[in-house]
Amino acid sequence: MNIDEQIKQEDEFRESHKKLGFWTAYPNSWFNPGWKDKEKIEIRACLKYIEDSKITSSYMGWANCRVCGIELGSSDMVTPDDKWIFPEKYEHYLIEHHVQPIEEFILDAVAYYKVTFQ
Ligand SMILES: [Zn+2]
Repeated sequence: MNIDEQIKQEDEFRESHKKLGFWTAYPNSWFNPGWKDKEKIEIRACLKYIEDSKITSSYMGWANCRVCGIELGSSDMVTPDDKWIFPEKYEHYLIEHHVQPIEEFILDAVAYYKVTFQ
């Protein structure tokens, strides 16, 4: 496969998935300081969903946290149900900065695990 075919294939993969946490292109997450305490079950489902995700593509160079500046990752991840792609170490935003993903992501995470955590 040449580089043009590879880029095209990656673009198609990206377009065929729902996207989360790509701040500039898809600003679909927001800060909610109360989320972490209020919605424990949903948070645990989201973190597990992220933890069980796999690398789909890697890039040269690192992304830095938009809030505190630490290095996060250099890859995109895909959820275990193959629905969402998001940047590596996205969980940092949930854990450290109380970022709440969009509702659709939360619902998919909960549905995937049919959450009964208590
Ligand atoms: Zn940070």
